[in-house]
Amino acid sequence: MQPLIDNARMFGQSPEEFAKLAEGQSPQVLFITCSDSRVVPALITGARPGELFELRTAGNIVPPYASEHPTSEACTIEYAVEVLGVSDIVVCGHSHCGAVGALVRGDDLDAVPAVRDWLCHATPRPQGAVEDPAVAEGVQGHVLTQLLRLRSYPYIDKKLKDGQLTLHAWFYEVHTGAVLAHDPASDAFKGL
Ligand code: ZN
Repeated sequence: MQPLIDNARMFGQSPEEFAKLAEGQSPQVLFITCSDSRVVPALITGARPGELFELRTAGNIVPPYASEHPTSEACTIEYAVEVLGVSDIVVCGHSHCGAVGALVRGDDLDAVPAVRDWLCHATPRPQGAVEDPAVAEGVQGHVLTQLLRLRSYPYIDKKLKDGQLTLHAWFYEVHTGAVLAHDPASDAFKGL
């Protein structure tokens, strides 16, 4: 923890870079990814403060649309799309994902009931090679499922049809730093 505190103490040493951020934010991208500490969106994309609106959940799961039961995740997505007017949403899964791995293997999660109940949102259950430590196939299919979930949000569906929004499926390899993106034409994940 101490190195993180030391860095935070030094962070505000160039106040002129940050002063304009007080005027507001206008990020173009909502970046949805896993809470995993090895995935650092700003590092991957080179984004500066104000450029990425982030939603991080265990297993980068987008919960089902249910306007009568708003969730923190639904609030973040709605604000990004309807208020900030982002033009792009990236859902970025990653290799060696503990959450997706647990789903692919069908792990017993009774000792962590909150995790178990959250992961119930991942339907259909991700499929892939159980013995693959990277769970690459499982994560990539799971990311595409989250894009379908986003399309089920009425205001997102409308913006997609109006050409005001684009969805992207990414897969980040934590062991190489490579980013793959889903190519709809070939239905395969390829290097950016
Ligand atoms: Zn993960």
